[in-house]
Amino acid sequence: TFYPAGQMSHPCQMMLLVNPQSGKGQALTLYNNHIQRMLNEAGIKHTLVITERQNHAREMVKEADLSQWDALVIMSGDGLLYEVINGLLERPDWEEAIRTPLGILPGGSGNALAASIHHYSGASPVTSEELLVSCGFLLCKGLVSHMDMVSVHLSSSPRLFSFLSLAWGFVADVDIESEKYRHFGTVRFTIGTLVRLASLRVYKGRLAYLRVESTPSRSATKALPGPHDSLLPPLDQPLPDDWVVVPEEDFVLMLAMYQSHLAEDLLAAPEATPDDGVIHLFYVRAGISPTALLRLFLAMEKGAHLTTNCQHLVYTKVRALRLEPYSPKGIITVDGEVVEYGPVQAEVHRGLSRLITG
Ligand code: ADP
Ligand code: MG
Repeated sequence: TFYPAGQMSHPCQMMLLVNPQSGKGQALTLYNNHIQRMLNEAGIKHTLVITERQNHAREMVKEADLSQWDALVIMSGDGLLYEVINGLLERPDWEEAIRTPLGILPGGSGNALAASIHHYSGASPVTSEELLVSCGFLLCKGLVSHMDMVSVHLSSSPRLFSFLSLAWGFVADVDIESEKYRHFGTVRFTIGTLVRLASLRVYKGRLAYLRVESTPSRSATKALPGPHDSLLPPLDQPLPDDWVVVPEEDFVLMLAMYQSHLAEDLLAAPEATPDDGVIHLFYVRAGISPTALLRLFLAMEKGAHLTTNCQHLVYTKVRALRLEPYSPKGIITVDGEVVEYGPVQAEVHRGLSRLITG
């Protein structure tokens, strides 16, 4: 089947994957209270699949007969979609599998993609159950867009795929340290931010990127199963001359975003659209005061951090990037999930997947 961007077919058969442990542990209750009737009234047939453990969804979509499903919809946080996307791209028929329309309903504590979809619809910002209802409505409308996918290379783990973000430094530390506050829901990021601000530190490393404007010479990484990365040399090889090496080596954070929201209430990349083919790269240089950093995050609630004239914040649009942290230990996250710490590089694949955006 070829699924163009456009309208979902009707009648439509969805697989709805619900993680009962996500967020405050209320995803099933939220499904019963808000989503079940909405989908039934819209005439959307759906099969509820309750995930039982980590990687359950990943294994399931890897084996599934996708010809049976018009869409795979995730009701959890971003973590469950990350599993589904990586499961799809591990299939021998990845090229067709990744074209299955994907949907997301916010049921977790990190619901950045759901918030992005709501934002793209042009509606004014909402959170929590209002966001869920909005995303349910957009899902019923069933308009399908293309969505960028970013391939991520690490030094010894297999290549993986990312739909949302790559983070190092302050943001990655807050994301992971705040997992213990998961039961507070989305507020976990606010609590985590305040805790980390009190012990703000510097992260050393080398950052380089390939600007969107450049027309790069093609690099050849060894052929892997799945999408071909044409911009990245092997991670242990030097970068081509047209890459920009950031002069600073002392950072407070590096954040690469490919959708608009970093969390329900953090509009990190206001210009991002689902398939702009752009990695929106932000970094904050060392030397920023905790107060100024807090001001940045407060401004980010409205996407106004870029207009605060903060001299430590740098924003640039790139197609690929490489980060080499100098410290032996630390946290790097991909879509909010911890990955192997060490050198990492990434390249965007424009519109590789399909997303129900309404
Ligand atoms: P949250 O935003 O609350 O972190 P996520 O969607 O990111 O929600 O899910 C967190 C993790 O829970 C994912 O890594 C997922 O694999 C895992 N998971 C899925 N189903 C279960 C389950 N039944 N029990 C425990 N963990 C699960
Ligand atoms: Mg998560």
